[in-house]
This record gives sequence, structure tokens and C-alpha cells, in this order.
Amino acid sequence: MNDVLAHSQAWVNGTLTNLINPQTAVYAADLYQGTDPSKLNFAERAWMDWYLYWGNPILATGIMSFVLHELIYFGRAIPWIIIDSMPSMRKYKLQEDRTPTPEQQWECTKSVLLSHFTVELPQIWSFHPICEYFGMATHSVPFPSVLTMLWQIGIFFVFEDTFHYWAHRALHWGPLYKHIHKKHHEFSAPFGLAAEYAHPLEVFILGSGTIGGPFLLCALTKNLHILTVYVWIVLRLFQAIDAHSGYDFPISMHNWMPFWAGADHHDHHHMAFVGCYSTSFRWWDHFMGTDLNYKRYRARQAEAKKQAKEQGLSWPTKEATKNAKGMPLKKKAE
Ligand SMILES: [Zn+2]
Ligand SMILES: [Zn+2]
Repeated sequence: MNDVLAHSQAWVNGTLTNLINPQTAVYAADLYQGTDPSKLNFAERAWMDWYLYWGNPILATGIMSFVLHELIYFGRAIPWIIIDSMPSMRKYKLQEDRTPTPEQQWECTKSVLLSHFTVELPQIWSFHPICEYFGMATHSVPFPSVLTMLWQIGIFFVFEDTFHYWAHRALHWGPLYKHIHKKHHEFSAPFGLAAEYAHPLEVFILGSGTIGGPFLLCALTKNLHILTVYVWIVLRLFQAIDAHSGYDFPISMHNWMPFWAGADHHDHHHMAFVGCYSTSFRWWDHFMGTDLNYKRYRARQAEAKKQAKEQGLSWPTKEATKNAKGMPLKKKAE
């Protein structure tokens, strides 16, 4: 206790004096009652310092969540914007002839930012109290072991993918599609930034699958640290942005992990408007037969690519692309 108080007072006496008053320091020290800072590693001390710095766990979690989300979302989207501007990358584009214009990217960025600041920010603010309600460890240290984090994140991936498959399929039902999901389908050739380009209700509904797994696991086991949830959300953001990138490289995950969906899968969903409803994995679409159109199309595309090579045509070419598009793709929403 005294160690923590001293640690906390060090903040007060340091350059942050004007941000934390001594009463806050005492309150913050209460937060870490029974924690011995000398037994913590660098990352755990930094975590503790963050909560001591703000002196208010709701504020500390809220700011961390929001900043993390913005940094990862736009940080991951930027490499895709650069790749879109490189003609040498066109050969890896899934819809060969369709690259987003800077105007489309800017419109999408404005809409996503507006949604982040108006719809998501208030929700992020309520994140800490909800986590505490379910008994999640938030400010506390030490962190869970890597092994614990791994199996918990594995469960979140499977839970989210299942939730998303059925909720996304439901969103393709006429009235729900028309009033909610249509916005996300405005870009039939998606790009990284478009991952969260959606109606606020869709963000809420499909976001429940991302955060619902952690809350459920926590309610059942009382064994979950918010750091594990952050790592999961970062991986989920990478998954969502990459799935919308519009590119398939030889090193892309689904090429060496066949059950991983990736851009190859979700790009077809945007192009065809039906089928391929999952996020991370392919099994639901495979077992429910909602990927048959996709499989046929990719087979034709591979054949067209092969023929182009045999005929000495460079890929993509207008002729070769036309060969791959021999089937009706647009159907009305289910
Ligand atoms: Zn959809
Ligand atoms: Zn999408």
C-alpha cells in the first residue's frame, strides 16, 4: 500500500502536478491496494501509471479505448490507401478494374469519423462501467498469462464469426437491408477505410458480436482482463479492414490457412450482394451453402487468369476480366 502511495505521489510531485491533486493520488492509491509495484514488469507498471495519471478509471479506460480504436483503424487503413495508389499492385486486386477514387476515400473517411465521434464515443464512455458490471479486471495488474489470453481470444473469434454470420444474414432480409445494411453496400468494390462505413444501428448490432463474447465469458468465468479484450479488438479491426482491402496477395492468410475468410471472401460479398456472410472463417458459409456463387466465380476467375497467361496477355486486362464475369452476380437481397 505504501509503495503504491509513494508511486502515486511521485506523479503528483513530478511534472504532472497540475493534472492530479494529492486527494486524487490517495484515491488512485486505493485503486492499487495490495499491489506491489516492484513485482510488476515494465508494461504492467506503465498500465498502472496510466490509471494513476488520470485518477479516474472511467476516464482512463474511455480515453484508452477511443484512442486505440482511432489509431488502429486509420493506422491500418493507410497502407491500403498507399497500395491503391500503386499501379504495380493492380495485379493483386480482386476486382481487377475497380480502384477507389480519392474522392470516394475522402467521403468514406468523413462518414466514418462522424460516426466515431457521435455514435461510438458515448458508447466507449460506458465501456468501463459495463466491464466492471460483468466483473472484468480493468485497472488491475498483473496481466493474465499469454496462454490465458490466447484461448480466450480464440473463443472470441469463433463467437464473433458465428454471431456475425447470422446477424449479417438477417441484415440482408428486405426491410433490414433497405433501412440499415444498404449503406455498407454502397461500395461494391470495398477498400480498407470502408470497413466501418455503415449505419449506426449496424455498428451497434454487429459490434455486439465483437464485445458480446468477452462479456459472456466474463459473466460465466469472472476471469477476464480488459487487456485481453483490447488485443482481441485490435485483431478484429485488422481482420475487418484487411477483409475490405480488395486485395489478395500470395502471402494473404487464406492462402496458407484455408479456413480463414480474408478479403478474397468478403470482397465477393460486396461485389455480388449475397453469400459469404461470415467475418473471420469460412465454415458457416460452407456448411450453409451460402458460398456456392463465390466458389463458381473464383473458379472462372482463375481460369480466365490462366488463359490470359497462355495467350500472353497481361493480367488484369479488360478482355480477361470480361471472361471471368459470365454469371449473373446481382440478385435481390434475401
Ligand atoms: Zn452484407
Ligand atoms: Zn463489408
